[in-house]
Amino acid sequence: MNALKLLYQGKAKSAYLTEDHDLLVLKFRDDTSAFDGEIIEQLSEKGAINNQLNAFIMNKLSENGVPTHYVERLSATDALVKRLDMIPVECVVRNRAAGSIVRRLGIEEGMAFNQPLFELFLKNDTLHDPMVTEHHVEAFGWATHHEMSRMYELTLQTNTILKAIFDQAGLQLVDFKLEFGRFHGEIVLGDEFSPDGCRLWDKVTGESKDKDRFRQNLGGVLEAYREVAGRLGIVLEN
Ligand code: ADP
Ligand code: UDP
Repeated sequence: MNALKLLYQGKAKSAYLTEDHDLLVLKFRDDTSAFDGEIIEQLSEKGAINNQLNAFIMNKLSENGVPTHYVERLSATDALVKRLDMIPVECVVRNRAAGSIVRRLGIEEGMAFNQPLFELFLKNDTLHDPMVTEHHVEAFGWATHHEMSRMYELTLQTNTILKAIFDQAGLQLVDFKLEFGRFHGEIVLGDEFSPDGCRLWDKVTGESKDKDRFRQNLGGVLEAYREVAGRLGIVLEN
């Protein structure tokens, strides 16, 4: 399957049309953004690392019953996916407090929640991805009640599956973001799962092994991503 025409250029990935109307090529670029695209830097090989990490996670989710857009990895940086009609909200689950919720609610970083906390954000960089509720999603017609329920269910299911996988790798899954879309009427997980869109803390030291290293200028970003891959048993191609 060939990448024919650029359909969409995001902050970290580009989507290309293919000969098949139902399929896209997603190219994972080295661009690394923070603060809704205010800062963008190139981290050499990040695209290829995330492409491999994402392939591993998407396959695990699919094996465990989560419908995903993922078809196959095409090259170091490219993946073949089903073309979805994307729903413009980010579904976030938090197991512990970090990032925006700490600032918003003035709570201590690392605080564990009694149960996984589900939050929704509108995908809009200009507005800095404002938080919305299920009611906004339905009232604005971004998704139906049934679709919203399915996204909620699949996000929590993903949390259960991935918490266990990362736990075995000595990592705590603190929070993450998912995006869903429609494929022939069905709600399907799209976009990516990589350290760009989640928080992973070393279970022993508490050290961040995700994009917070970039956001907070801690250094060792790619080393951390490679370590995550290694701990999951992924042998990275060079
Ligand atoms: P952003 O849009 O946040 O800058 P990316 O750089 O990751 O993010 O761009 C990828 C874009 O492709 C996103 O807008 C995402 O919603 C979209 N996308 C991801 N998976 C699919 C898919 N299977 N079908 C259609 N669009 C997709
Ligand atoms: N996240 C993301 N894309 C976004 C916003 C958040 O992938 O546009 C991820 C982020 O990496 C984290 C989780 O969603 O794992 C929760 O992010 P938060 O609301 O704390 O925002 P942040 O402070 O990270 O901007």
